[in-house]
Amino acid sequence: KLILAFETSCDETSIAVVENGEKILSNIVATQIDSHQRFGGVVPEVASRHHIEQITHCLTEALEVADVDYDDLSAVAVTYGPGLVGSLLIGVTAAKAVAFAHNLPLVPVNHMAGHIYAARFVDQFQYPQMALLVSGGHTEIVYIKSEYDFEILGETRDDAAGEAYDKIGRVLGVNYPAGKTIDEWAHEGSDTFDFPRAMIKEDNYDFSFSGLKSAFINTVHNAEQRDEELNSRDLAASFQQSVVDVLASKVERALLDHPVKQFVVAGGVAANKGLRSRIERDLQTKFPNVQLLMAPLKLCGDNAAMIGAAGQVAFDHKKRTDMSLNAVPGLSF
Ligand code: ATP
Ligand code: MG
Ligand code: FE
Repeated sequence: KLILAFETSCDETSIAVVENGEKILSNIVATQIDSHQRFGGVVPEVASRHHIEQITHCLTEALEVADVDYDDLSAVAVTYGPGLVGSLLIGVTAAKAVAFAHNLPLVPVNHMAGHIYAARFVDQFQYPQMALLVSGGHTEIVYIKSEYDFEILGETRDDAAGEAYDKIGRVLGVNYPAGKTIDEWAHEGSDTFDFPRAMIKEDNYDFSFSGLKSAFINTVHNAEQRDEELNSRDLAASFQQSVVDVLASKVERALLDHPVKQFVVAGGVAANKGLRSRIERDLQTKFPNVQLLMAPLKLCGDNAAMIGAAGQVAFDHKKRTDMSLNAVPGLSF
C-alpha cells in the first residue's frame, strides 16, 4: 500500500511516498529558510509563493525517487492544519488535484499527528502511549489511549518551546531558526544565570515560556546598558537548562499519573540534544518499563514522510475527505 503525502503547513514544501505507513520510498523536502532569514521569521506571503514555485518539482521528484507511478498509489494524504492558511492551501489544492485526476482516496492529516508519527519509523506503536510534542508553534503533552485517538493533557499557555528558542536566538544575533545553534552553544557553556522555571511546581501538565524569554532578554539588555559582555555560551546553557527542566518535570508528572507503554518525543525541538539525553536518562531511571521512541533527527522538522505514516493509519481508520476539503489553520486534536 503506497501513500503519496503532502506537507506545506509552514516553510517546508515536502512530498513523500510511504509504503505501509512504515517505509520511506522518498521524502523530498524543499526548505525556504534562506528567504525568511533576513526577516527573522517566516513571512506567510513569502512562504505561500515558495510553495507554489516548489510543489510540482517536489511531486515529480518524490515519484521519481520512489520509482513509482500514480497507478501504484492507494491514497493521497495531506496536512490540512494547523499552520499558515496560505501555505496549507497550496498543499491541500495540489493533493486534491492529484486525488481527483487519478481517482484516489484523499485522506486529511493533522500536522501534529504527523509529528508524532515521525517516531513510527523507529518502531511499531503500542498503546496506551504518551507524546511530548515540541515544535515551533506547539508544546503539548498528548495521551493516546488507542490508535489515532489523541487527547491533549497539557500545553503551553503562551510561547511554544521552539518559538522561545528562535526569539532568544535573535537577541544573541543567531539566524532564524535558532534552535540548533543555541543547542550547540549550550553544550559549550554552563548554567550560571539561573533563569526561571515557570509553572514547574504547579499541579498540571501545562507550560509557559514567555517569562523565561523576557528574563533572558532583560538580562542581555541590562548587561548591554552597563557595557558588560555576557558569555553567550553560558546564556544558551542556562536558557536550555531551564527549558529542559520544565519539559522533563511535566513529562514525569504526566507519566506518573498516566501509565503508558510508550513515550514519543517529536517535533522540531525534539532534535535538541539536551532534551533527548535528559528524557532518555529520566525514562531509564524512573520509568524503565516505558519504551522511548524519539523521532529520528532527520524527521523532527517538518516533512511529508511523517504525514504519510499518519495518513496510512488515518486511511485504515476510514478517514476520507473530498474536494470540499479546506485548510484549518487552528486545527487541534
Ligand atoms: P508546528 O509544528 O508547531 O506547526 P513548525 O512546523 O514551524 O511548528 P517545526 O518545523 O516542527 O515547527 O520545528 C521548528 C522549530 O524547531 C524551530 O523553532 C527551531 O528553532 C526548533 N529547533 C530545531 N532544532 C532544534 C534544536 N536542536 N534545539 C531546539 N530547537 C530546535
Ligand atoms: Mg519549518
Ligand atoms: Fe511542524
